Amino acid sequence: MKVYVSADMEGVTGVVDAEDVQPPGRDYERSRVLMTEDVNAAVRGAYAAGATEVLVNDAHGPMRNLLPDLLDPRALLIKGRPKPMGMMEGLTPDHDAVLCIGFHARAGVLGVLSHSFMGHEIEDIWLDDHPTGEIGLLHAAAAAHGVPVALLTGDDTACDEMKAWDPAVATVAVKYAKDRFAAQLVPLTEAREAIESTTTEALRHLHIAKRNAAVRTLAVRWQSASVASHLTAIPGVSRRDDRTVVVGADMLQLYRMFNLFLRVCTAVTSNPPYC
Ligand SMILES: [Zn+2]
Repeated sequence: MKVYVSADMEGVTGVVDAEDVQPPGRDYERSRVLMTEDVNAAVRGAYAAGATEVLVNDAHGPMRNLLPDLLDPRALLIKGRPKPMGMMEGLTPDHDAVLCIGFHARAGVLGVLSHSFMGHEIEDIWLDDHPTGEIGLLHAAAAAHGVPVALLTGDDTACDEMKAWDPAVATVAVKYAKDRFAAQLVPLTEAREAIESTTTEALRHLHIAKRNAAVRTLAVRWQSASVASHLTAIPGVSRRDDRTVVVGADMLQLYRMFNLFLRVCTAVTSNPPYC
């Protein structure tokens, strides 16, 4: 069994503030340890369920957060950026399951560190007219390969968002949102034990995902009309209104194109992707 892990940071156990997840924030270096330990819990759970390979993609901000010297030595790690498939780099149809560790709710939701891919630049994303964020887009990209998402960890609002998208995904809430930068934390040991045991359980009772290779429509509403204007230079991308662009393609092409959108947005606004 080949398991793929996409590791984000905002939904990691113990993390609540922008300073916790962005270098050189005061607690960023400590959060790197917390993130690595949440991933390690999932890696242990995967091997307990019979995994033969676990590939971990560092999917947050600079994508150089996980500490290789603290990471479970059985795990393979993709580190750094840019990567054409961003948060899903390295996922292939021969993976058996995706684990989303440390995820967060989409922009506009009152969840811990909620946003969609950029800190402030993206107001909303729709996939086939369904409002979505990182959770929905990653799930759809995995489905395009026919690979099920088995588990998601994050705050309770991220878990709710995942359950609404696909009730078959197991979730572990490692904190309960009080506001966007405040939460009641699950104690670290308890949270990591829950990640490990739920991972094992989810992989032992893996649901089958139907491969979805259909053409889908992605719409993105930006804070800046200038970003939308630049993106319409890409063939196939049209403007729904001054700040919203729309494009249709198969999901993997859409996901790759969306990563290109982020690069263009960074060039226009000087704000890097945050994820
Ligand atoms: Zn992130």
